[in-house]
Amino acid sequence: MFQLPELPYAYGSLAPILSEATMRTHHDKHHAKYVATTNALLQGFEPDATLERVIRSASDEGDHKLFNNAAQAWNHGFFWQCMAPSPRPTSGALAQAVRANFGGMAELKAIFTKKASEHFGSGWAWISARAGALSVTTTHDANTPIVEDGVTPLLTCDVWEHAYYLDHKNDRAGFLDAWWDNLANWSLAEAQFAAANGDGAAWRYPGPT
Ligand code: FE
Repeated sequence: MFQLPELPYAYGSLAPILSEATMRTHHDKHHAKYVATTNALLQGFEPDATLERVIRSASDEGDHKLFNNAAQAWNHGFFWQCMAPSPRPTSGALAQAVRANFGGMAELKAIFTKKASEHFGSGWAWISARAGALSVTTTHDANTPIVEDGVTPLLTCDVWEHAYYLDHKNDRAGFLDAWWDNLANWSLAEAQFAAANGDGAAWRYPGPT
């Protein structure tokens, strides 16, 4: 069984970009439902199977219902870590890689926010690393880069309307601009980038318990 992990900060601490009401609904209702549905669909898995293994297996077997719920459980768990109330700017190896791949943080912000705001319908925007190279992608619905061999996500932003509609209505671009400037957790991205390069472990979903 998988648990709903607690937010790593207070519900109201991301306001005004994401209000306490948004975070309570998003975490306590949306994320909780994905976790509960995943748990209800776990028959056939050994009790110690990680969520990452469940997602990969469901993807391989074409079990869309399990994949969608398990991947959404994982994506949200990771997304909470991708935000911080007072993040510091990135530095070190990740900042160097951003310069080498995109020219700089301003260019990366422009690419990320454009792709994310233009993504049609529900999904996720990602910065990922593969073999030291960085990329910006979007995925539809529950899809997640962790099913791709050799890819480590560094940062994601939820662009489903439930993520921002209470606070930003239909202004997804405005949400993304404020999210990037005020909430994106570069400490997490740096740790993920180090893990992608063999230094430490990438974030994984807690449990099972
Ligand atoms: Fe969401």
